[in-house]
Amino acid sequence: MKKILLTSVALLSINASSYAQDWDNIEITTTKVTDGIYMLMGEGGNLGVSIGEDGVFLIDDQYAPLTDKILTAIRELSTDDIHFVFNTHYHGDHTGGNENLGKKGIDIVAHDNVYKRLSDSGSAKEALPIISFNDELTFHMNGIHMKTKHYHSAHTDGDSIVYFEGKNVIHMGDTMFNEAYPYIDVPGGGSWQGLLDLTKETLTTIDDETQIIPGHGPLTNKAGLQIYNNVLMDIDSILRPLAKQGLSLDDVKKLNPLDKYNGDYGNGFMNPDTFISIVYMNIFNHLDK
Ligand SMILES: [Zn+2]
Repeated sequence: MKKILLTSVALLSINASSYAQDWDNIEITTTKVTDGIYMLMGEGGNLGVSIGEDGVFLIDDQYAPLTDKILTAIRELSTDDIHFVFNTHYHGDHTGGNENLGKKGIDIVAHDNVYKRLSDSGSAKEALPIISFNDELTFHMNGIHMKTKHYHSAHTDGDSIVYFEGKNVIHMGDTMFNEAYPYIDVPGGGSWQGLLDLTKETLTTIDDETQIIPGHGPLTNKAGLQIYNNVLMDIDSILRPLAKQGLSLDDVKKLNPLDKYNGDYGNGFMNPDTFISIVYMNIFNHLDK
């Protein structure tokens, strides 16, 4: 018994040190989107930053061990105070730095459902939004209007898209995984149909020059979102008839119906097996009766 315990402790400490090492190796890279707007990438969701005369506005904050690196990267852009951090949704790879930032007195803002999910999961008080909203909220800072719009069920039930009005840039949070299969957090209130509707609607609100910061993957534009929407619609047209026929998930997997996309889209957060399982069951469980 004692020997087993020691082995476990040894394994734990090895894991802990390799975990810490991973954070040390992560670099925060900064991409200029347009004057005053930047995309930062490290580990976790892509960050959006607005700088200007009124200070720094930050979208999402990745993981807690990266807070210092993220702040250093922002300091290279602006030495002004960070006024707000806006959470696009509740997932830990977008809100993990909340507590660190909240303790510095930075105001966290997010949809009501983000507040509820973070609160219900036992997050520290400082990690919770101090302002939440139920539909739309606009920040008037740095000479632009940053309008946040909530969608009730897409990647989660608390997704917001941020429109940097006047800069023709949007941040889509995890409603867009650029060049990868999207994750639908069904227990977290997400839905496949909601994601399809969101991508279709968003295409009607932007133009050919709009730049898009996705939740994951490289900076893109309307053409990139159009491809993403086309792929999701095609996947729906492949899987929905199989669901209507009443095929089991196992039978669908044997048909390998998404083979043509797995090579290009199955190497991100969602592997092909997990992706088809989530999407097929979500379609199956919501067929019009
Ligand atoms: Zn997410």
